[in-house]
Amino acid sequence: MVDVLVIGGGNAALCAALMAREAGATVLLLESAPREWRGGNSMHVRNLRCMHDAPQDVLLEAYPEEEFWQDLLKVTGGATDEKLARLVIRASSHCRDWMRRHGVRFQPSLAGTLHLSRTNAFFMGGGKALVNAYYRSAEQLGVKVRYDSPVDALEIDGGRFIAARIGSERIEAKACVLACGGFESNLEWQREAWGQNERGEWPADNFLVRGTRFNRGVLLKFMMDAGADIVGDPSQAHCVAIDARAPLYDGGIVTRVDCVSLGVMLNQEAQRFYDEGEDFWPKRYAIWGRLVAQQPQQIGYCIIDSKAVGRFMPPVFPGVQAQTLPELARQLELEPAAFVKTLSDFNAACRPGSFDHTVLDDCRTEGLAPAKSHWALPIDTPPFYAYALRPGITFTYLGLKTNEMATVHFGGAASPNLFVAGEMMAGNVLGRGYTAGVGMSIGTAFGRIAGTQAAAAALKDEAYATA
Ligand SMILES: Cc1cc2nc3c(=O)[nH]c(=O)nc-3n(C[C@H](O)[C@H](O)[C@H](O)COP(=O)(O)OP(=O)(O)OC[C@H]3O[C@@H](n4cnc5c(N)ncnc54)[C@H](O)[C@@H]3O)c2cc1C
Repeated sequence: MVDVLVIGGGNAALCAALMAREAGATVLLLESAPREWRGGNSMHVRNLRCMHDAPQDVLLEAYPEEEFWQDLLKVTGGATDEKLARLVIRASSHCRDWMRRHGVRFQPSLAGTLHLSRTNAFFMGGGKALVNAYYRSAEQLGVKVRYDSPVDALEIDGGRFIAARIGSERIEAKACVLACGGFESNLEWQREAWGQNERGEWPADNFLVRGTRFNRGVLLKFMMDAGADIVGDPSQAHCVAIDARAPLYDGGIVTRVDCVSLGVMLNQEAQRFYDEGEDFWPKRYAIWGRLVAQQPQQIGYCIIDSKAVGRFMPPVFPGVQAQTLPELARQLELEPAAFVKTLSDFNAACRPGSFDHTVLDDCRTEGLAPAKSHWALPIDTPPFYAYALRPGITFTYLGLKTNEMATVHFGGAASPNLFVAGEMMAGNVLGRGYTAGVGMSIGTAFGRIAGTQAAAAALKDEAYATA
């Protein structure tokens, strides 16, 4: 029998598998995707948010524990477990040497990447290279990997993990790590979680999934039914407004459109609906998917003028372009009179200031609801550009309740040999909101803890068995 079974094939699972193997356990990793689609959402990532008290290789200046904590507190509105959050923050300051030993390489952030050069370490080659490096290292260390292996049930006896099931196949292990993502790719579950709105629409019908199609929440549902303690709200998720032309799954990072804070966002009725300049984009980009989800037909339109071009990472696919605002409205099939009035009211409300996209500047609107608090410049210089945006779900926050040992709990009691990591428990730290790069901080910290604890649980059992 294998010592540690790891279910999942993304960052959290790989961190757990590597740590368990390094601790001397035999490890089998089950990934539901075929080899060419391995790596879950982790293959799409770009960076890791890291605490540091002084400049460190690719990280500039300092990002102390307290600042990281305050950022997390602000975005979650307090929906976080401070003990676990601080554990993640501290772990983010010393995990990179271990990551490097397993082949992960870092690079400085590119110019224009959301003011992240101080706080976030970027992966050379992105998440795909990270995942490939981890698989290579895991295989070299003797971790067994099985693809096309979607686990559909577990055998649990009094909180103790006994075996995993793939159809009629049964795989026993002494300990198990669950790291198989959220339920973001399960559109039926999304529909149920978001329900029907006051307009009679089912908002989730217009959602796109930014990452893998394999995170269907099968084991999350199984664990809920099995009585595991749960944390989070099923409608809370990392949800970004992405290019409405994106595919249903795996559009990845290139579908993101990062110019909202440089322009205005309108809904289908050509009305603004939120402060586009509330805070820096990395702290706000993940609220816009939810905001768009609340609009009629779950669509929004980001409008900029030529002054904004060059101030943000250009999207891969060009937007709609026009020389006049009425022409732009016609191309977007928005009512031109309402569109022009909204833009004229906005332009008239912009107060002169010193525009600086790298600070919370003094360019703001006055007497306008909703206000634009920073970076408010009149949209008056053709050509004008527009991007239609839809809610893009990144990952859901409903998860298994856990503690500093990454243990799964049943009725408040910790399982002796079942652990959880990554998206499947991220809701303990992220009850809502998001700050860029913290998904990987959580998955790396808890993946490593879960792997170590699972190995300890398995090897302890072995010691008893041979005593
Ligand atoms: C486009 C995009 C960009 C992102 N960028 C960043 C970023 O730059 N920084 C950051 O911190 N976060 C980012 N994220 C979020 C990040 O991807 C997640 O926080 C992190 O990768 C989660 O890791 P994980 O291992 O928990 O899940 P995943 O990487 O999604 O892995 C889950 C794995 O479980 C497997 N699986 C699912 N169900 C089963 C089953 N029943 N049996 C067996 N296997 C199963 C899946 O196939 C998959 O391999 C991004 C996400 C997306 C989609």
